[in-house]
Amino acid sequence: MHETPDFAAVVNASPNHYLILAPDFTVLGVNDAFLHVTGGTRDELLRRNPFDVFPPAPDDAAAAELIRASFERALVSRLPHTIPLLRYAMRDPRAGTGGTAERYWTIVHAPVLNARGEVACVIANPVDVTELVKLRRALEDAGKGRVLRTEASVFIRSQQLEETNRMLDAELDELRRLFEQAPGFVAVVRGPQFIFELANAAYRRLVGRDDLIGKPFRDILPELEGQGFVGIMDRVLSSGKPYVGHGLKTMVQREQDGMKSELYIDLTVQPITGVDGRVSSLFVQGHDITAQKRAEDELRISNERWKLAIEGTGDGVWDWDMQSGKVVYSARWKQLIGYVEHEIGDSVDEWRNRLHPDDAQSASAMLQDCLAGKVPTFISEHRLRCRDGSWKWLLARAVVVARDASGKPLRMTGTMTDISAKKESDERIWRHANFDILTGLPNRRLFRDRLEQEVRKAHRSGVRAALLFVDLDRFKDINDTLGHDAGDQLLIQAAQRLGDCVRESDTVARLGGDEFTVILTELDGVAHVEYIAQNILRALAEPFHLDNEVAYISGSIGITLYPTDGTAPEELIRNADQAMYAAKTSGRNQFSFFTRSMQEQARSRLRLGSDLRDALHGGQLRVYFQPVIDMRSGRIAKAEALLRWMHPGLGAVDPAQFIPLAEESGMINEIGDWVFRQAAAFSRRWSPHAGAPFQIGVNKSPVQFMAHARSDDWSATLKGMGLPANSISVEIPEMLLNKMTAAVADRLLEYRAAGMQLTIDDFGAGYSSLAYLKKYGIDYLKIDNTVVRDITASESARAIAESMIVMAHRLGLQVIAEGIETAEQSQLLRDAGCDFGQGFLYAAPAPPQEFEQMLLRDDAG
Ligand code: C2E
Ligand code: MG
Ligand code: MG
Repeated sequence: MHETPDFAAVVNASPNHYLILAPDFTVLGVNDAFLHVTGGTRDELLRRNPFDVFPPAPDDAAAAELIRASFERALVSRLPHTIPLLRYAMRDPRAGTGGTAERYWTIVHAPVLNARGEVACVIANPVDVTELVKLRRALEDAGKGRVLRTEASVFIRSQQLEETNRMLDAELDELRRLFEQAPGFVAVVRGPQFIFELANAAYRRLVGRDDLIGKPFRDILPELEGQGFVGIMDRVLSSGKPYVGHGLKTMVQREQDGMKSELYIDLTVQPITGVDGRVSSLFVQGHDITAQKRAEDELRISNERWKLAIEGTGDGVWDWDMQSGKVVYSARWKQLIGYVEHEIGDSVDEWRNRLHPDDAQSASAMLQDCLAGKVPTFISEHRLRCRDGSWKWLLARAVVVARDASGKPLRMTGTMTDISAKKESDERIWRHANFDILTGLPNRRLFRDRLEQEVRKAHRSGVRAALLFVDLDRFKDINDTLGHDAGDQLLIQAAQRLGDCVRESDTVARLGGDEFTVILTELDGVAHVEYIAQNILRALAEPFHLDNEVAYISGSIGITLYPTDGTAPEELIRNADQAMYAAKTSGRNQFSFFTRSMQEQARSRLRLGSDLRDALHGGQLRVYFQPVIDMRSGRIAKAEALLRWMHPGLGAVDPAQFIPLAEESGMINEIGDWVFRQAAAFSRRWSPHAGAPFQIGVNKSPVQFMAHARSDDWSATLKGMGLPANSISVEIPEMLLNKMTAAVADRLLEYRAAGMQLTIDDFGAGYSSLAYLKKYGIDYLKIDNTVVRDITASESARAIAESMIVMAHRLGLQVIAEGIETAEQSQLLRDAGCDFGQGFLYAAPAPPQEFEQMLLRDDAG
């Protein structure tokens, strides 16, 4: 069994404060805890009114009355009465000597009844809740907004007193822990001396020491006085207005190592107001942001370095903070478009509003794609308007460097590079590739592009279009007679005239040489095309003024219509080309529309060309011979070798049809050599009849003179065959003299040196200088069919023929008239002194056997 405890001893030992009062409010007893907190002695208090012993400060008079009233209530009601919260200053044992501390109390007055039910005494139990109140204020001020248990929880009845105390202690503990472990630093300082009442672990770490409580701020952190912190606290204390400061720099001397360290803090100093409304303490809280600041500094420094490095390359730099909407443009960025620092603001519009209208859409779309994360990098080539109003090509490259948790972009950083030089050279290359340098017109390649575009457009819109091929007639003559510079000038002027004949939306291009094309779009009708073609012909017929010369020229135009004649670009090109060919062959200086029959002709030309490949080796070629008559004796003097093609399907094909094909394909060289060998062989065969070398004329086309290979070493062939050189006379068309090049001249002189004879064929069709005839040692002049044809009907044709004969004789040449069909022609020519005649009147070209019969008959006659 336990001994019954001595209750007086229990009360005395309790850590709670007890004061036992008689009904007349005098002290009957007091425990040690009470004496300790009040600083009084038991003797002082016993039998005394406690307020006599500790008179309330003037400020606390009201509080004293409240205590007295609560006591009276308990006395009268015989029930415990509680004052939930009361401020009452008291000598503070922790505040050193003399100081009074602001203290908060919950006071319970519990009546103790005697056996008669009368109040024997009242136990006053003041619970010190100062810390609780301060913490609560601090937390509320700090915005942590923790709702404390309501006052009701401390409204207690006497039997719940112990439990209340326990609850209060528990709450205090929890708050203390919270406070102690708060991540930020927190302290409460009191009075003008700023005596530390509370300081949590973070605060103690910040200042580097633990023994803060009860000590004045100035003693602990003297170095902070000079840094203005004491001033801040003074101001908050006197003004009652809180202070907020970000990123304050402070030097703190740590006690442990005596080292001074530089710290950066965010600081809030809030006034704590007592129940009387006066500011008595300060709640100091904040965060040590030194590490964060260092990191930011490092980032900034490294960013600065990057910026410097990038700007060193000449690029501008920009940085877009999407939260603030601000863009930092570097000085170089601004300089690139001609501005200085203060002339460009910090909005995206500084860039956006300067974008070239043609580039704005693509640049913005690209930016959106990058912001949306569809592409990792924003890359855009665009033009920006410079300060002087000009446009500059720039390359912007950027990446999103920060996004929030949802992926929303927060920051974008990029560079800007001047690419105007590159663009210029791109442009130059593009122009070079797509435009004709001489005339500035689109070239063949761009023409193809445009044609395809126009065809597509016409297809979509259902409108008609036309393609014209324009070829300048006899342009070559201009080049040959007036020189290439004059030719170039003429082409430039012709290009201008073509451009003047069409609308802005139409395309004039130069395919090369003297070939131009015109694409006419959105046609109203065929009449319009005819009108333009007519205009072009008229414009080209105007005189061309070239330096000192005036030149005249004409054009041939082929026209094809979309979609009537064709819809594919290649088809249209082919059609226009065929139509142009038709315009040329039917006399030049005219236009002709494409027709199906042209296509037919073109097809058969093509077929013929490919058939010709087999002709020589397939034995389809023959050489016919036509006699050339001595006009004085009427006997066969010589012959001309004329080629015939016995086409297996078409029968005999005219040389006028297939010789051009053979020339185009180059086959004429091989064929010509074969004809030459045939002619040489028959000359050998027929010479005995004549008693002298029987001369045979062999035609040689201009193309054969251009041949690179010297396979036609005809004089060597003759020598090899043991034939005299004059067995063959080479017939060259008059036009060759116009194209006289060094190669042609060399060949002619070579023939002459070897002793072969030369005949100018088709004389009178062109207009060559007779001086050439002398220079190259020409032997014979052949008057063209067309002159001979007109000789009987036309006085001027006769005059031309007569003067040709006279001039030729004066130059030492003999004259052959070809195409003599009537006795009258023959008579006239003989009278004019013509040496030889050739034509159906005497004999048509014939196969060798037949020709041989003619020779025999001629001999016999
Ligand atoms: P060319 O050298 O002027 O030949 C004369 C042409 O006149 C021949 O036409 C001949 O058949 C024709 N002819 C002869 N007598 C008369 C006549 O009384 N009236 C008319 N209207 N025509 C007459 P062909 O044989 O059709 O040859 C045409 C052209 O083809 C030749 O004109 C020549 O330039 C060329 N040619 C013929 N054979 C050869 C050849 O082996 N090599 C080359 N390079 N060209 C050839
Ligand atoms: Mg001939
Ligand atoms: Mg001829």
